[in-house]
Amino acid sequence: MTVESLSYAIDDQDRLVRVDDGFYRFAAENGWDGAGDTLGRSLWDFVAGDDVKKLQRLLLRRVREGVREIQLPFRCDGPEVTREMDIRIAADSTGRVVLFSARLVNESEREEPQPLFDPGVPRDDEDFLPMCAWCDRFLVGGEWVEVEEAARRLELFRRARLPALDHGICPQCSGQLLAA
Ligand SMILES: [Zn+2]
Repeated sequence: MTVESLSYAIDDQDRLVRVDDGFYRFAAENGWDGAGDTLGRSLWDFVAGDDVKKLQRLLLRRVREGVREIQLPFRCDGPEVTREMDIRIAADSTGRVVLFSARLVNESEREEPQPLFDPGVPRDDEDFLPMCAWCDRFLVGGEWVEVEEAARRLELFRRARLPALDHGICPQCSGQLLAA
């Protein structure tokens, strides 16, 4: 990856008011739709999953109303890499503008690319696979597992079509976020 860090800021209406060059490059590398046209849009347009949104809203409220700053690890994998990042969420003195800065901590190549993240691969909409949007693990048979393990257990590579991803948050990450 060429992007080591990225940052963005939102106003009191949660609209993106400032994004840096790293944000645009990261968006392009990860195939985000409409990322070139980000300013003025709601932060929530870029967050997948209702319960992820709910938790992030909670975090934001705590940052704005008192704790001022939270720092958390999260995963942000690409098709060919696993990527550990740290995100720092900090409010200005008024609590209205909030700055997000993410930094790459570690990136390693996968042994085999994981097509689950390729938006070009057709998916079967009747078939859902729950995914934690914070740690990038998948719920298979009641257990949250890494993508390689999910692919093995569900024999994803032998299917003609992949299940649709259902973005949510696993109990471990939800506990971690609520404790932040
Ligand atoms: Zn998780």
